[in-house]
Amino acid sequence: MAKDYDLTPKRVPHIDTPLRRIQTEIPAPGSLAVLETLARWEPLAMRGQPPILWDHATGFQVYDAFGNCWIDWSSGVLITNAGHGRQEIRDAISRQAAQSLLTSYCFPNLERAQLVERLAGLLPEPLKKVFLLTTGSEAVECAIKLCRAWGVSHGGRGKNIIVSFEKGFHGRTMGSQQAGGIPALKEWIVNLDPGFVQVPFPDGFWTKDTSFDLFESSLRNSGIDPANVAGVLMETYQGGTSAFAPPAYAKRLREWCQRHGALLVFDEVQAGFGRTGTLWGFEHYGVVPDLATFGKGISSSLPLSAVAGRPEVMDQFGPGSMTSTHSGNPVCCAAALASIELIVGEHLVAQAAQLGALLHARLREIQKPHPEIGAVLGKGLVAGFICVHPETGQPDGELAWAIVQRCIEKGVLLFSPVGYNGSTVKIAPPLCITEEALLESLAAFEEAVTESLARPEAAR
Ligand code: PMP
Repeated sequence: MAKDYDLTPKRVPHIDTPLRRIQTEIPAPGSLAVLETLARWEPLAMRGQPPILWDHATGFQVYDAFGNCWIDWSSGVLITNAGHGRQEIRDAISRQAAQSLLTSYCFPNLERAQLVERLAGLLPEPLKKVFLLTTGSEAVECAIKLCRAWGVSHGGRGKNIIVSFEKGFHGRTMGSQQAGGIPALKEWIVNLDPGFVQVPFPDGFWTKDTSFDLFESSLRNSGIDPANVAGVLMETYQGGTSAFAPPAYAKRLREWCQRHGALLVFDEVQAGFGRTGTLWGFEHYGVVPDLATFGKGISSSLPLSAVAGRPEVMDQFGPGSMTSTHSGNPVCCAAALASIELIVGEHLVAQAAQLGALLHARLREIQKPHPEIGAVLGKGLVAGFICVHPETGQPDGELAWAIVQRCIEKGVLLFSPVGYNGSTVKIAPPLCITEEALLESLAAFEEAVTESLARPEAAR
C-alpha cells in the first residue's frame, strides 16, 4: 500500500520571507474539515499527496487560505509550465466562456483550428497533423491504436507488438497501463495483452548498460521478431527518474524503427512545452519520432492533450471514426493558445534552459557529500533527486518522503516522491520561476536534505 500523510497538525518553525510564508501548523488546522470531507467521499487512491489545501496560485507560488505560501516545485503535476493563474490564460478562458460556446464536440470551432495549426507550426516535419483529446492517457491510447492499425495494415495481423520501457509510465487506462513498465500497477489486469513488451530503459542509473545492444538483446530474449513490432513507445525522459536515454541510443532506436517498419512514438506528456529547456524534449536527441503525445503543460491549466504525427499515419481512419466528445473543446483550446503564446513570447524555453543549468549545478553540489543521494537526473526545469541506501544501492523511499515532507514545512511545495519504490524527489517548478526564487527554494531544499539525513524519522 502506498504511503499517506498523517493529518495531525504538526508545529513547525514559522517562515516569513517575501516569497515563502508558513505561519500555521502543517496541515493547517483550518484545512482539516475539507481534507476529512475528501477522505470520506473520495476513494483512498486520491490521497497520498501532501495535505496542502490549495486556495489560489500565481506564477510560481501556491497559497492556502490560512496565510501560508509556498514556492512551487510541482507545477501541479508538470501542468503549469507558463505559470499558475496567468492573467493572459484566464482572460482567454473568460473570453471564450463569455461567448457561451463551451463545447462543440467535433463540429468545427475557430479555437480548435487555431490550436492545431499553431501546434503543427511549432512541431518539426513530419509531425504535421494533430488530434486533440483530453488526457495524457487518452493520447497514449490513441498512439497505440495508430501504431497497431499501421502495423497490421502494413505487415499483417502479427505486426502488433508495442515495445515500451521498464519503469515507464504512460497512464492508467487499459492500454496505457499495459504499455507502462511498473508491474505492480498492472496486477488488476488479469488478461495482460502479450502484444505489450517492455525492455530496460537506458537511464544509466538503475540500468547501467545504456547501449542499444540491450534493446535488441532484450527483445530477442522475449522472443520478439523485430518484423512484428508495430511501434516503440518511449517517454522522452522517464517520469520516474527524469532520466533521458543517451542521444546515441535514441539515434540507433530511430534507425531500428525505420529498418523494421515500426513507428517511433515519444510520449511528451511531461517533456513538452519547454520543460526540459527545449520546446520539445525530443530535440535533445536530434531525432524526430513518427508520433508524439502531449498533455499536462499544453495549456498550463485546463484538461487537454494531443497526438501529433506523420499525416499518412494520422489519416488511417476515415471520417467520424477517431473522435472524442471533448476533442478540441474551445475553452481548453483558448487556454492552450494563450499558454503557448506566453511560453514563446516570454522566452520561457530559454529561461528553462538557463535556470535549469543553475538548478542542476546546485542539486549536484547538494548531492556531493551524501552517498544517500544516488543521482541527480533530468534537464532544464525538471530534476529527479534519487535517494538510495548507500550500502546496497537500493531505492530509499523513506528518505525521499522525509525530504518532501520537510520541504513542505519550509515553504517549498513538491508532490509526493515518484519512481522506483518512491525514491525520486521530483523537482519541476513553473518555467516562469525567477532566479531569486529558485535560489531561495534550493537553499530551503538543502536544509531539508541535510536535516532528513540527520534525522529521517523526525520528519513525521
Ligand atoms: N504519459 C506520461 C509521460 C505521463 O507522465 C502521464 C501522467 N503522469 C501520462 C502519460 C498520463 O497522463 P494523464 O494523467 O493526463 O492521463
